Amino acid sequence: MNMIKISDVTEKLALFIDPLSDQKHLRTTSRHSSGSVLHDFSVGEYVEQPTYLSLQIGHNCHIHLEPQYLQYLNHSCDPNVFVDVTRHEIICLRDIEENEEVTFFYPSTEWAMEQVFNCRCRSLNCLGEIKGAMHLDKNLLPRYKFTPHIMEKLYGQVSEQQSVNEPDTN
Ligand SMILES: [Zn+2]
Repeated sequence: MNMIKISDVTEKLALFIDPLSDQKHLRTTSRHSSGSVLHDFSVGEYVEQPTYLSLQIGHNCHIHLEPQYLQYLNHSCDPNVFVDVTRHEIICLRDIEENEEVTFFYPSTEWAMEQVFNCRCRSLNCLGEIKGAMHLDKNLLPRYKFTPHIMEKLYGQVSEQQSVNEPDTN
């Protein structure tokens, strides 16, 4: 499939468009090693209700990303980056080759997604319908990395258990 490059957006990322679907996406322009920071981001604006463009960074807290081209980070069920909402960094989950599409796992930040969609990531483990972390099969959870606000929702009882065991502060 011939993807058309629109522009280099940083020295590490370029924006592409798929002429068949008109969908834009970001691809790497060089190689990156697992654990490295591919990009950072800030809060463009806070949005009251999640939209198909928003990113969830906390309980009931949704933002639009700045810079705006980060809206073209698409979902994959076999993602190569993680969006760290605490450090405001986009971190490589594994080694990424030059010219790979940069993708993250939407349920890693989104609890209940505003727009349910059918994933076509073509990964062997594609989950099909993507609706947010609250709808994930519990057996699949160990496969993915989640942000703290999602971890709290998924494993709420675990963290309550842990806090009971923490040393007494009084
Ligand atoms: Zn998929």
